[in-house]
Parts: sequence; C-alpha cells; structure tokens
Amino acid sequence: MARPPTTTALVADVPVDTRHWIGGHRVASAATFTDHSPIDGAPLAEIARGGASEAAAAVGAAAAAFPDWAATPRAERARVLHAVADGVDKRREDLALVETHDNGALLRSHRRGVLPRVAHNFRFFADRLLELEHAEFDTRGHTNRVSWDPAGPCALITPWNAPLMLATWKIAPALAAGNTVVLKPAEWSPLTASLLADIAAGAGLPPGVLNVLQGYGAEAGDALVSHPGVRRISFTGSVATARHVAAAAAAHLTPVSLELGGKSPLLVFADADLDLAADLAVEQYDNAGQVCLAATRLLVQSAVADAFLRRFTERAARLRQGDPREEATDIGPTIHRRQLERIDGFVRRALDAGARAVIGGGPHPGLGGLYYRPTLLTDVAQDAEIVQEEVFGPVLTLQTFDTEDEAVALANGTRFGLAATVATGDRERARRVADRLVAGTVWTNCFFVRDLRAPFGGSRRSGIGREGGTWSFDFYCDLKNTVTAPEGWTDHG
Ligand code: NAD
Repeated sequence: MARPPTTTALVADVPVDTRHWIGGHRVASAATFTDHSPIDGAPLAEIARGGASEAAAAVGAAAAAFPDWAATPRAERARVLHAVADGVDKRREDLALVETHDNGALLRSHRRGVLPRVAHNFRFFADRLLELEHAEFDTRGHTNRVSWDPAGPCALITPWNAPLMLATWKIAPALAAGNTVVLKPAEWSPLTASLLADIAAGAGLPPGVLNVLQGYGAEAGDALVSHPGVRRISFTGSVATARHVAAAAAAHLTPVSLELGGKSPLLVFADADLDLAADLAVEQYDNAGQVCLAATRLLVQSAVADAFLRRFTERAARLRQGDPREEATDIGPTIHRRQLERIDGFVRRALDAGARAVIGGGPHPGLGGLYYRPTLLTDVAQDAEIVQEEVFGPVLTLQTFDTEDEAVALANGTRFGLAATVATGDRERARRVADRLVAGTVWTNCFFVRDLRAPFGGSRRSGIGREGGTWSFDFYCDLKNTVTAPEGWTDHG
C-alpha cells in the first residue's frame, strides 16, 4: 500500500506544515512538488501542489470571512495585527533558519534585518490604520466624508528572493484595511508562509482572513489571479509574469498593483567620497544580487574611474562567499539551478560580445552547486543586453561618463525605473540629478534606507502603482465619498 505523503517537513529542526492553509484548516492536494535548499541542493519538503479547485476554495474562504473582518472595529484589527507581530518576534529564530534553508539568503541578515522588519510591517500598518482619516469638507452646507472601505478578498503573489518580507509588506496593509487575503508564495521558497499561517492563527486572526495557497505560478497562481471573486491583486515578480497577471486582472477589471524588476544605476560623480561610493557598489552583491532594487549599473565619472575601480576591487576581494548559515559569509548561493544558468547565460553572451570581466565571470569553481562569483563587467555598450536586461544575480556592469547630462542619459537609458543611487559631495547636484532621474526611489550617498511611510514602487516597466504608508490603504480600499445635507435641508428650497 502506498504511504500517504507526509504533511510536516523538518527544516533545521523546525516542523513546517507543507499543506495549504484555507479557512483555518490545513488542506492537502493530491499532487505535491519538491522544494530544495539552494545551500546544498538537498530536498527540504514535499509541498502541496494546488490548482484551480484549491484556489477556488481559498478565495471562497476569504470571501466568507470578509464581512465579519471588514466590520471588525479598527482598534480590534490593529490589536490582532500587533499580536501577529509579537508572534513573529517569538519565532524569529525558527523563521530565520527556515528562510535561510529555503532561499539561501544570509542567516545573519534574516536574524538582524529581515525578521525585525517583518514584525514591523504588521505593527506599522496596524498603527497607521488608527491614524487614517481624510479631512471632511463642505459643499454649500453639505458635508463630504471620504472613507476607506475594505475592498474584499485580495490575491497576493510574491517572489522567492525575500519571501516573508515581501509577503508581509502586502498582508499587513491588506488585513489592516479590513480585507481578507490569499497568499500564493513562490514555489522555490514557500516554507515561511506556512509558519506565518500558524503564527497568525495563534495570534487570534479569525479563520479565512489569511489563507496560504501553495503551488506553481502557472497553476495555483494563475487560477488565483483569474478568480472573479478576487477584488485586488498585488503582485511582486518579473515583468514577464506581470503581463499574465495584468491580462488575468483585465478579464474581471480587478485592480492590480505590480512591483517588478529593475536595472537601477549607481551614479558616481568625481566629487563623491570614493570610499563610500565603493562601499555602496560592493553592497549590490547582497543576497547574491537577487534584489530588485540592486544598483547593478555602475556609472562612474571618467576622471575618477581608475581610483573608484581600485577601491571597488579591494573591497570585493574581501567578500567571503559560502554557506549562508555562517556568520562570516557575505554572499550565499543563488536560488536555483535555472537561475544560476540564466545568470551565466547573460555573462557568457556579454563576454562573447566583447565585455571584460574585471572580477568573477562564472560559477564559483571551489564551492560548486549554486554559488556564482561576484562579477564586474566593463567594456559594455549602453544598448548591450547585459546593460538593458535584469540579470538578478551578482553581476554588475561599469560604464563611464564625462558630463552630468551624459550621466542622466545613461541612468535613464533602460526600460526600467525602480530605483537609483547617486554618490556626490555636492548637494545641489544631488537634487538636480535626482529631479531628472526616472525612478520610484532615489538614494543620495546611501542605499536601501526604506521607511514604510514612503511610497514604494517603480516607473516604466518596473511596475504600476505605489504601496507604502497611506498609498497602501489607497490601493487596498474602495474610497467612498458620502455627502450629507445639513439638518432641515429640502431640495426644493
Ligand atoms: P516570477 O515572476 O517568476 O514569480 C513571481 C511569483 O509569480 C511566484 O509566486 C510565481 O509562482 C508567480 N507566478 C508565476 N506565473 C504566474 C502566473 N501565470 N499567474 C500568477 N502567478 C504566477 O518572479 P521571481 O523569479 O519569483 O522573482 C524575481 C523577480 O521579482 C525579479 O524580476 C525581481 O526584480 C522582482 N522583484 C521585484 C520587487 C519589487 O518590489 N519591485 C521585489 C522583489 C523581486
């Protein structure tokens, strides 16, 4: 007799349920898929592989839970979200360990940076909810009151590079707004979403308010975003998938928010602190370059190109690549064999086209597996594939410029517009250049400083819409204006 598939995986000694979480119950699927660790390729878990029926069940559960959660007073919703944040804090170590085994990003970053931020996502949007109000205004004695009405069940689709961080950046405002959600985590790193479902249930989130649907994008993901019961879709991922998601959303005119890829520049002017600029440049190898915001195009003023490059290569040589669980490691593996091959394909084609690898240029020969060497390519043309397309790996290019106009033209010269970083000692120049850059976020002499009160998103192919602060509530709510006549008013005088 065939043994039934196990429903719990032990990952770094942490038990993780591998089934969907729908309507407050664990739900299995007939089929499963194998989730591997990028650290050593070991199988981690057999995950329930959902499709149309599981997606329909999840949306059904979210729809059933919606009226009560939407009617729950703001203060009570905020209280539950704070309890979820406390639950995340309590399980920080488990979450950090499982996330690192599942997506290969550094354990020390998960412990110290990511997990505190995950809890903060819940606390921030809970608190923001309580402050949310529009000014009332008067029209010939009539009052206008604008309210944020919850929209309904939301489909949230997330990528593998920062699973829990990106999931909670969507879940927290959606739930705070009074919506219910179905999260479809990426199939390459689904595990912490399952732990979050346990945490949320333990914190008192009612059944059906948060649902987790496991599975492949083309199956579970497609069925979810195509479901007519979904009232918002928030998607983070690649441009190619976004086209499918937007087409599915169009069928039911479901409002959609798209946070997509980037090819962001780091502009280094001759008046910059070159040590700082080189630090910022080397930082772009974080998470093996699998960061949407990464400034992968180094644009350096010709007069300081040699001096900058010297500083950059000195720092890059000190980077320790290896097991992401070790404290001393700076760069871990890429997520998956397919991703490694994709990265290497970009680099091979660039080298064939005449680029020069100043450092790196291929997989790590000693570490093997999914470890790709931090790479810097020079002698690249602006219209080259390696300059125009998102690699999503530890691969940077370097181009030089002479004038500010040239720098801005190069920086804006791709189809993306997610972020830009400017290194300069001249604050006037910083402002002038920032004003001319096409980007959702511009950092000056810093990188990755993110405040949840700020709008976040991309221009051009980097996305549609902005989330963060009040902008998240604008997206996750149906805004309504209620106009009330003064006492005793009669329309006929
Ligand atoms: P991806 O587009 O392949 O997958 C993202 C998610 O979409 C996954 O959960 C996947 O299962 C799902 N999906 C795939 N096909 C689908 C379909 N037809 N319908 C519905 N869902 C579907 O992206 P990825 O490779 O997981 O992530 C890397 C990309 O994400 C990069 O382009 C990166 O820049 C981008 N990203 C953007 C941001 C941002 O905030 N702008 C943040 C992180 C990552």
